[in-house]
Amino acid sequence: MQQIQHLINGQSVASSDYFETINPATQEVLAEVASGGQAEVHAAVAAAKAAFPGWANTPAPERAKRIRQLGELIARHVPEIAQTETNDCGQVIAQTGKQLVPRAADNFSYFAEMCTRVDGHTYPTPTHLNYTLFHPVGVCALISPWNVPFMTATWKVAPCLAFGNTAVLKMSELSPLSAARLGELALEAGLPAGVLNLVHGYGQQAGEPLCAHPDVRAISFTGSTATGNRIVQTAGLKKFSMELGGKSPFVIFADADLDRALDAAVFMIFSNNGERCTAGSRILVQKSIYADFAQKFAERARRITVGDPLDEKTIVGPMISPAHLAKVRHYIELGPKEGATLLCGGLDRPSYAPELPERVKRGNYVWPTVFADVDNRMKIAQDEIFGPVACLIPFEDEADAIRIANDTQYGLSSYVWTENLGRAHRMAAAIEAGMCFVNSQNVRDLRQPFGGTKASGTGREGGTWSYEVFCEPKNVAVSL
Ligand code: NAD
Repeated sequence: MQQIQHLINGQSVASSDYFETINPATQEVLAEVASGGQAEVHAAVAAAKAAFPGWANTPAPERAKRIRQLGELIARHVPEIAQTETNDCGQVIAQTGKQLVPRAADNFSYFAEMCTRVDGHTYPTPTHLNYTLFHPVGVCALISPWNVPFMTATWKVAPCLAFGNTAVLKMSELSPLSAARLGELALEAGLPAGVLNLVHGYGQQAGEPLCAHPDVRAISFTGSTATGNRIVQTAGLKKFSMELGGKSPFVIFADADLDRALDAAVFMIFSNNGERCTAGSRILVQKSIYADFAQKFAERARRITVGDPLDEKTIVGPMISPAHLAKVRHYIELGPKEGATLLCGGLDRPSYAPELPERVKRGNYVWPTVFADVDNRMKIAQDEIFGPVACLIPFEDEADAIRIANDTQYGLSSYVWTENLGRAHRMAAAIEAGMCFVNSQNVRDLRQPFGGTKASGTGREGGTWSYEVFCEPKNVAVSL
């Protein structure tokens, strides 16, 4: 059995305890993974602290060279990393191989370039020359969830290290494998020992002491709202960015380009197995086109290929774990009880869906499920289900759409479909969310701020927005 160890100070470090990581499509045990606690966290933070002055004082072009090299190594290993990721977390290979792992490589090339361009703002006055220095913060705790683990981890590691910080990365206990490979490639890229450390383990045993550690200066966390709240309450005074849950509205007006809106709506709830923080899980459709839209949407959902995540044709793979499958099934069961109409999918394999291939028969599968006649106050419309379950909610007019879109604790992403330019801008301004995509699915431009408002988190990452967590700005005022 393969064993995965921690990476501390450039060394592979064993643990007294191990946990198994399991392929959610086949239930096969993929590896035994070192389970860290206080001791490993202390050692990793100490290594990161010791490596910090050297790395922070390495000239930015030299840091950039190593960061770029890491991106190039990832780009060279895309098929291998994508397969590891797909086996470990069930995200389909068409996504990991063509989108997510290549994007991880891009994260490094982007921030390598950017760290050589950090400049201070200057505010000259007749009496003073004011300018701003951006210093690295120090040791950062980077915590990743299981849904797109490699991309999310690199999205944190790349800016963190590029700006001169050192890091302790903790992956989710449900999907630790691809990041273990990241640690190996980081050493191959010439990152000095201690600059990137990896402690594996469970949230409370490894994640909590890491966040609470007094030598950790900043926390970049992606995960659930419940965990984010807990960290904010227990970590003490630190810089942090919290990328949390969502229940994003996907609003379609009667004047929208319906075919494109349908494609995007299907993509935004069913791709990545529906396990996507920015999923358009509440689909708000104007009443005059609601019935037609619902019928066409369900027709497309029925045609989605559910199956082996290693098959290039598969769109929906298995849920990450039996526990998460049970949660998603709970909401599928709840929908009709709350008064929603089940248009397709449901608890068991529907008759129109082919049988699963033999290899994945024991996987954690659920079929794309569509509920119509959903009222926004139902639990299926308020709770983050984090699976391939769409809620179709009718609305009257612009004001009604805004009211429903904002009637949620979350505020991560939003989508607006209309051919009316003025309305598109009004909606984009009125919806309470960190992001709004107009006539578009979610696209990521690395220069833009990524993050949410309300219970979806606080802080933004991306481009210069990443300074917020990974840099300490200092005002210098020189008397003239
Ligand atoms: P989770 O909160 O259960 O776990 C996330 C990470 O936190 C894991 O590594 C876990 O081990 C760790 N953790 C758990 N308890 C901890 C504690 N007390 N202290 C420190 N670390 C702790 O979330 P999950 O189930 O892994 O991920 C799914 C959630 O992540 C969803 O809510 C999803 O919306 C969210 N998410 C958000 C974004 C975003 O950018 N906003 C992106 C992806 C996922």
